Amino acid sequence: MNHFELRAGELHCEDVSLARLAAEVGTPVYVYSSATLERHYTVLRDALVSAGLEAPLIAFAVKANPNLAVLRTLGRLGAGADVVSEGEVRRALAAGIPAERIVFSGVGKSEREIEFALQVGVAEINVESEPELHLVNTVAQRLGVRAQVAVRVNPDVEAGGHAKISTGKAENKFGVSFAEAERLYANASNMAGVKPVGVACHIGSQITELAPMEAAFGKMRGLVERLRGEGLSVDRLDLGGGLGVPYFNQPEPPSPEAYAQMIARAMGGLDIQFAFEPGRMIAANAGVLVAQVLHVNRRPEGRNFLVLDAAMNDLLRPAMYDAYHDIRPVTPREGAPETYDVVGPVCETGDTFTRDRPLPPLAAGDLVAFMSAGAYGAAMSSEYNSRLLVPEVLVRGGDYAVVRPRPSYDDMLERERPAPWL
Ligand code: PLP
Repeated sequence: MNHFELRAGELHCEDVSLARLAAEVGTPVYVYSSATLERHYTVLRDALVSAGLEAPLIAFAVKANPNLAVLRTLGRLGAGADVVSEGEVRRALAAGIPAERIVFSGVGKSEREIEFALQVGVAEINVESEPELHLVNTVAQRLGVRAQVAVRVNPDVEAGGHAKISTGKAENKFGVSFAEAERLYANASNMAGVKPVGVACHIGSQITELAPMEAAFGKMRGLVERLRGEGLSVDRLDLGGGLGVPYFNQPEPPSPEAYAQMIARAMGGLDIQFAFEPGRMIAANAGVLVAQVLHVNRRPEGRNFLVLDAAMNDLLRPAMYDAYHDIRPVTPREGAPETYDVVGPVCETGDTFTRDRPLPPLAAGDLVAFMSAGAYGAAMSSEYNSRLLVPEVLVRGGDYAVVRPRPSYDDMLERERPAPWL
């Protein structure tokens, strides 16, 4: 459920008309609903707690939506942060998320990033390889601290979704095998600079079936039991994120309740602190990208191009993953649907949001909303084609705030410096 709906013939975000917002802030623009963000977080937390998981850490995957206002909205509810760079650690801290709720993942953390994370005291570093474990150990000893680490395992399961967002197969770059995890965990327990506190996995994103997760989680449980059987203490089990969201053309994903019950089933009786790293399921349906139709280009041979003022630099998912976004007119007109190729102004054929999509009739000047754009939307935006970085707005009830303003062209140009010889 989300808080975007038609009211009196106009799409609203909570109590704010998107047409009014677009007139005041301009387009393209991302719009997020506080109520939806809060709802998704609390529904997941309540489902996990009702299934018997005590005080789970829900570390929002910052990569999905790193906007400080979004992070602050979730942090105030008790969310932690799953981060993959120093920049994301800094964002989480700046949004008021305490270091003890920050989990640092990622296959390529630099020495400087590890040092920063240890200095601010993040809860856990998820190490993804043997060289990384040694690097954390060395940096921690230099700083005179003991780093809490979890070993990220690659459970080698097929989790569906797009090949570019599958992370849990042996051929993917993430994590180590179960055998390797046992060896690393035992080695880590003898290192002066690290304290192994748990194991972690994340098998992919936009997963719409529970079976692959259940298979992976069963294997993770086995690992915890084997490690404990060897006399090693394992306090934390991080099960990653990955639960899919409805993008309208895809199988309905499992509900948070079904997800929580599956975890209770797979983990029943295991006394451990659970952590999760959801991104998409919290943020995707809490945001839309609003764009304006620049032209309707009707080709004599029959193809209709709907040219928008938003482009692949603002919303990369369709070009990168062939992702589907529902596209809705902000003020729908009466009339029979027409079939459009929806494109942006960037000079790439890949700057095509969708082909042959039946949509209500549209004309130049109309506004459209790309639904389910709150995760991996603004997060992946760029200035490609020297287009200004897309702004972001957070709505709460009848109020809204521009939480990332559109920069000016001067802002864009002033970031660069002339070479002395030019
Ligand atoms: N955790 C890790 C380590 C990830 O790589 C990702 C995304 O790929 C996530 C969590 C969040 O995944 P999702 O947004 O599908 O929940």
